Parts: sequence; C-alpha cells; structure tokens
Amino acid sequence: MASFGYQDTPIIPGTNWHVHDGARPQPRVIKPTNLGEIAPVTPPSDAVVLFDGKHLSEWESVKTGGPAGWKLEGDYMEVVAKTGNIRTKRKFGDIQLHVEWAAPAKVESESQGRGNSGVFLMGLYEIQVLDCYQNLTYPDGTTGAMYGQYPPLVNACCPPGKWHVYDVIWKAPRFEGGKLASPAFITVIHNGVAIHHHVELQGPTQHKILATKEPHDAAGPIILQDHGNPVRFRNIWVREMKGYDQG
Ligand code: MG
Repeated sequence: MASFGYQDTPIIPGTNWHVHDGARPQPRVIKPTNLGEIAPVTPPSDAVVLFDGKHLSEWESVKTGGPAGWKLEGDYMEVVAKTGNIRTKRKFGDIQLHVEWAAPAKVESESQGRGNSGVFLMGLYEIQVLDCYQNLTYPDGTTGAMYGQYPPLVNACCPPGKWHVYDVIWKAPRFEGGKLASPAFITVIHNGVAIHHHVELQGPTQHKILATKEPHDAAGPIILQDHGNPVRFRNIWVREMKGYDQG
C-alpha cells in the first residue's frame, strides 16, 4: 500500500476509490510546455487584473477581512505562514482565470507538505497547488487535482522554483429553489497541457469527506490558500464570462 493517502474515507461516487486514496492510479508524468520558462502574458483588454505584482489592493485576509498579510516582493506575492488564506474583494461566477505560481526552489518535506497551496474558485472549489515534481501524493490531491474528486489527466509539473501556469475555464453551478439546477464544470490547462476537460464538479471540494452539496451564492471570491509553505503567485487576471443565461 502507498505510504500516503487514506483508505478509511468514503468511496467517491462513480469511482472505485476512496477520497484521497493513495492506491488510485497516479497521473502520468510528462514534460510540460516550456518547462516553466514562460514569456510574460499581457492580459486581454476585458480582463480584471487581480494581481500585477505591484500591490495587493484587490485582496484581503479571510481571517480578518483586513489587508492581505502575504509578502509582496519583486513581481510576485508569497504566502506568509499562519497569516491565513487571502481572497479577492470582488466576487465572480463564470470566469476564465489565469494564475501563475511557483513552489519553493528549496525542496522540503514530501507528499502534501511540499509547496502546498491552492486556488479556490468561488471560495469553495480547490484546484490543488502542490510541488509534485518527483513527489508522490494521493492522486486526488496532486498538482492540478480538483481536490478530493479528480486527479489531473497528467502530471505536467515543472521543477520547483519555476513558474507554473493555470488557465482555467469555470462554469459556476446554478441553484434554483435551494436545489442544484446545473452543476459546476471546469477545464484546466496546466503549463500548456489540458489536465481537466469540462469536468463536472460533485460539489465544493473537501478534505477526507465527500463533496458537499449545499447551495451557495451565484458568485464568490477567488481564494488563495495558506498551507504553511512559501508558495509564490503572480500575474493573476480573470475574465467574466457572461451570456449563457441570457436570451
Ligand atoms: Mg492545497
């Protein structure tokens, strides 16, 4: 049995695997586009720039509602352990999201302890951020996993210290009369490689339990996770995608 993960957790519906099952097949490792050497991307003209390296004014502390406590350095922000998660002041529904992140160049710890952070859509649905370059963990918690639900199709990690890119297309769930009318769907490109294609979320992502089903607001903040590791983020922008529900 794998030395990581859990088998005392519920079986994920539609699969043979427990939540965070260490025995679930590992995503195949590939070399991603450009191996973390990325040219700067200019945000499209209709994007909301959430972080351009200059200030954290679009962000606040989840803990206090006050200023985000993370470090601003060079053209990036860095998690400061124990300051807690940060969230956008704005709330979003359907979006296209671009975010770049880097795990610490100095490799420490293993499995979930190595460069752990996360990008939470609507504050509830985590795309895992983790350094899984030559680092095994339970597949539904590996880099780019929809945490506790879907491993990525492949492991497209670049080496620690290099910049990863997530390009995300998110369709928010719809609730009517307190019931789910249509689920959330996600597509994720990691370092130029499709790792999720129009995947249906089972509900907000959770640790060691099944996805929850409770209705939530039609819009929510983007949250970045403080998991205690000095992970860096830069070049974060979002495009609101409107039109599906009109006419
Ligand atoms: Mg995480």
